[in-house]
Amino acid sequence: MPLPSLDLSKGGRDFINDTALTELLAQKEPDAAEVRAIIQKSLNKEPLNLAETASLLNTKDKELIGEIFEAARTLKRTVYGNRIVLFAPFYIGNKCINDCKYCAFRSSNHDQIRRTLTPEEIDAEVRRLERVGHKRLIIVFGESPLYDGEFIAKCVEQIYKIKEGHGGEIRRLNVNAAPMDIASYKRIKAAGIGTYQIFQETYHHKTYEKWHNPQNRKGNYLYRLDGLSRALEAGCDDVGLGALMGLYDWRFEVLGLVAHAIELKERFGVGPHTISFPRIQPAQGVTPDHKYAVSDDDFMRLVATLRLAVPYTGLIMTARENARVRRQVMEFGVSQIDAGSRIEIGGYTEGGEKQAAEREQFSLGDMRSLDEVMGDLLKNGFLPSFCTACYRLGRTGEHFMEFAIPGFIKRFCTPNAISTLAEYLADYASPETKAAGLAAIERELAAMEESPMKEKLKARLKDIENGDLHDLYF
Ligand code: SAM
Ligand code: SF4
Repeated sequence: MPLPSLDLSKGGRDFINDTALTELLAQKEPDAAEVRAIIQKSLNKEPLNLAETASLLNTKDKELIGEIFEAARTLKRTVYGNRIVLFAPFYIGNKCINDCKYCAFRSSNHDQIRRTLTPEEIDAEVRRLERVGHKRLIIVFGESPLYDGEFIAKCVEQIYKIKEGHGGEIRRLNVNAAPMDIASYKRIKAAGIGTYQIFQETYHHKTYEKWHNPQNRKGNYLYRLDGLSRALEAGCDDVGLGALMGLYDWRFEVLGLVAHAIELKERFGVGPHTISFPRIQPAQGVTPDHKYAVSDDDFMRLVATLRLAVPYTGLIMTARENARVRRQVMEFGVSQIDAGSRIEIGGYTEGGEKQAAEREQFSLGDMRSLDEVMGDLLKNGFLPSFCTACYRLGRTGEHFMEFAIPGFIKRFCTPNAISTLAEYLADYASPETKAAGLAAIERELAAMEESPMKEKLKARLKDIENGDLHDLYF
């Protein structure tokens, strides 16, 4: 089957200027007044420009760095509150025509067992995910002519139809796959996807060439860079950016991500829905380049800087990171994490406690079950949420609304997080997690002002506990 032609979107252009970004990072250290003014701008909920983001990255003064972290924490707390949205990755096929040197799915890796799940296998995996309480998935594919728009759309349609037990269903399905042409995005959007995610991997052109074979589809930097613009043009209104941290200087990648966010906002009027910043992990036959390895401290700084630079965008951290790092980073920026994840093809039904190198893309740092992660979040004062209300009510760009509409979080997000948590506790939680969850709900209710909405929520919680109602949202 031939690959579709390389179309670029109407305004397809290379908006990443390596020299300009490098020069910004070589500027002298900003003075305290400048840094504090930038922090204040961010706390006023205004996105930062590239020069301002670079100034935060160029700050070396320990006290000012402390203020950057504190501001990120404040922004996270005052805007997103203590909610953390949970999802799981679901790998459907690992056939791949590309040869990305960091990935175990690369075509030259003949030790990898290649496989595409059949509809029956998809059914079994999704039921397993539903049986533990997942409501949001991201489906993941290698790049192959097999995994075209029609194929992905059919997977999406199938998965939405799979219902397991009492209220077990997938309510939001995101996609991480190769960049497509506009017709394919339209087909996938019509199937009902949430976010279409494409990671640029590295925004630095020379580094991009080093890690990707220029003869392959993925070797075309601009086709990939333009991938999410085409998705937006095709009507996929939620798109997710990402960079694979560890290929080049992480500070450059932060500027690349911010430049990409600015470009989308300027061209389409909406910024990205989410940004991901996975750190490269060991993978079958892969030796990461230690020169650009991102330390835990730098990783925290990276997240705090992004939080301040793109206040309207959800930040995703995956189970590539271990539980300790995840706990710390959630405090000052991240709003979505995956849990109970398996990244081998067939990993939810066939995988054991251990990962199988010959079927997985890379190694995970956090292999805890969804229930364990839920329990840990609750213990640490977070409010785990499976809410999918905005997307299903057509409220796309919800992060923007969380900021821009006074009282949006109080009116919608917190009650929806509470009722989806209550559903989880009633249907899936271990006794320990259930106890922690019920206590958290009591706390949240006590902190809520008396209102007709609160009464309605309390009534719904009773219904959920009695098993009478599911999938209620405001
Ligand atoms: N094949 C599609 C593509 O490359 O866009 C989508 C799926 S790919 C499996 C998803 C992402 O996994 C890639 O964009 C890359 O950032 C990430 N990835 C690949 N190898 C990795 C590794 N060794 N450690 C961490 N993430 C990795
Ligand atoms: Fe294939 Fe994606 Fe892995 Fe590259 S990152 S080898 S395109 S699966």
